[in-house]
Amino acid sequence: MKLEKLLSLPKIHLHCHLDGSVRPETMLELIKKDGYMEEDKKEEFLNKIAVLDKTFSLEAYLKKFDIPISIMQNKENLKRIAYELIEDCNTENIRYIEIRFAPCFHCKNGLTMEDVIQAVLDGANEGKVKFDVEFNLIICLLRHESYEINDQQLYAAKKFLDNKVVAIDLAGDEQRYPADQFVKLFDKAKSLGFHITIHAGETGNFENIDKSIELLHAERIGHGTAAIESQKTMDILLDKNIPLEVCVTSNYNTGIVDRIIDHPIYKYIKKNLIVTVNTDNNTVSNTTLNNEYIKIISNFRLTDLEVINTIENAINFAFCEESIKDKLRRKLLDMGSEGN
Ligand SMILES: [Zn+2]
Repeated sequence: MKLEKLLSLPKIHLHCHLDGSVRPETMLELIKKDGYMEEDKKEEFLNKIAVLDKTFSLEAYLKKFDIPISIMQNKENLKRIAYELIEDCNTENIRYIEIRFAPCFHCKNGLTMEDVIQAVLDGANEGKVKFDVEFNLIICLLRHESYEINDQQLYAAKKFLDNKVVAIDLAGDEQRYPADQFVKLFDKAKSLGFHITIHAGETGNFENIDKSIELLHAERIGHGTAAIESQKTMDILLDKNIPLEVCVTSNYNTGIVDRIIDHPIYKYIKKNLIVTVNTDNNTVSNTTLNNEYIKIISNFRLTDLEVINTIENAINFAFCEESIKDKLRRKLLDMGSEGN
C-alpha cells in the first residue's frame, strides 16, 4: 500500500491507553508549570517516558508511566491530555478511538474517580466537536489492585454508562493475578451492561485468553500474542468471533517477540482470526497508528485488502452504536476504493 493511501484511510483505534499517550512536549510543559520535577534535557527525558527499543520486561515498560501519571492529577491537565489525544487522532486520520485509563491512578491529589472520568470526558468531547473524531471510553480495572478499589472504579464507571463509558478492561500482571480472581467483578460489569475487553496472552500464556473468554465474558482480547501457541485457543477465538487488539511495537518493546517479523500477527490474519491494529501506547512505545501499519505492511507484505480488512474488523467490533459504525464504513468505502 502506498503511504499516501494509508494516510488517507480513515482509521480506528481500539486499544490506546491515555496515560501512555501523553505528548512528550505537553509532559515537559506541565512538569515545569506544576513543578513536579526539574526540566530535563529533551533526549534524557524521552528515555524516561518512552521505550526506544526493547526493555525485555513488561515491568520495565510500565516504569515509563510514572512521569505521565504524576502530571495527570488535576482536572485541567487530564482534560488537556484527552483533548490532545483526539487532536492527534485527527492528524493521523483516526476517525474513532476508544480511550482507556484507570481512574484510580489519578486520585493522588484529591480527585475522585468520577472527577477523573468527567475531566477526560470533557477534554475528549471538546476534541470531538473541533476535529470530528468519534470516541468512547474504557475503564481499566487493575490486576494488582484490591477488590475494593476495582469495585469503586466499576461503580464510578457505572455513573457514565450512558455517557461514553462503554466498556471495562482488565490490565496488569496476568502471571501473578490470573483471571479466576476477577470473576465476581466481571460478572458485575457484565450485568451492569458494560462491554468487556481483557488484556490476555500478552506476557502470560494462552490459557489466560481461554479463561478471559470463559470466566470474564471477554468480547475482545487485548494483545493475544500467546494464542499462536494453542490451536484450541485460536479455535475458541474463531468460533466465538472474538477479535484481537494487536499491538506489535509494544510486544517488541517488552521483549515478547524478538523481532517485529517474529510477531504472530500475519499468521493470525492467514488463519482468519479477527485482527485489529493498535499502538497500546503512542508515547511509551514511541509510535503512532500509521507507524504500526507501516511496520506491519513492510515486514509482512500485507496486501491493500488485508490492511482494509483490519480497519473493517475494528469498525465491526468497536463498542459503539450502529449509526457510528455505518458512518465509519461509508468513509472507509469511499477512501478504500480510491486508487484501486
Ligand atoms: Zn494495553
